[in-house]
Amino acid sequence: MTEPGAAPLPPRILVVEDEPKTRESLAEGLRLEEWEVQTASTAEDAIAILGRTAFDLVVLDWMLPQKDGIDVLQDLRGRGLQVPVLMLTARTALSDRVEGLDSGADDYLLKPFALAELVARCRALLRRPGAGFERWLRCGDLQLDTRARIAMRSEREIALTPREVDVLEYLLRHQGQIVTRAMLERDVWKQEHRMTSLDNVIDVQIMRLRRKVDGDAADRLIHTIRGVGYRIAKESA
Ligand code: CA
Repeated sequence: MTEPGAAPLPPRILVVEDEPKTRESLAEGLRLEEWEVQTASTAEDAIAILGRTAFDLVVLDWMLPQKDGIDVLQDLRGRGLQVPVLMLTARTALSDRVEGLDSGADDYLLKPFALAELVARCRALLRRPGAGFERWLRCGDLQLDTRARIAMRSEREIALTPREVDVLEYLLRHQGQIVTRAMLERDVWKQEHRMTSLDNVIDVQIMRLRRKVDGDAADRLIHTIRGVGYRIAKESA
């Protein structure tokens, strides 16, 4: 229907809920907002999916069989993923909520809730600039101060253009995950209605960034995933 590259990419949301009926109605409700929704029914599935794909938001049920929502959250934050997480819970005790927040949840919704309320909370999290984001982002001996917009590798400052800082920050916020050119086009270049692809521009930009960040360091951090996109990670991909 639309030209390739002409339609804006919708936010991607992962819904993690073990109860099939609830899962499907949540997914359906969020799809009505024209958001792109993927679902997982176990913590293990969620962790696997989050390791492969970048999301803009995770709607996470606390009570899951075997591993629970907190395990997913801890795994996510443990790997440095900063994606906002909206936790669903039937638990009302204050200590439970504190546990969730300490584990890195961004917001809570108490079950049962109205779909409209869920959508409103999701919207708020999707809008929040740098929701749950930390000032310092690190990968190996590379670190980026997102406030001062200064990148350092092994204590040495790397001179980057503003666009290069944007790209590096985006890669670091999706650390370990594949970042596609379409994601960079949408979120960094913020060009959603172009008729022509920015792929070449993006490739050249990444090449320059890589030269500055990796140079002739033995351990390269920025990896090309052929035909798909890029990934920043400590271990070679
Ligand atoms: Ca559940």
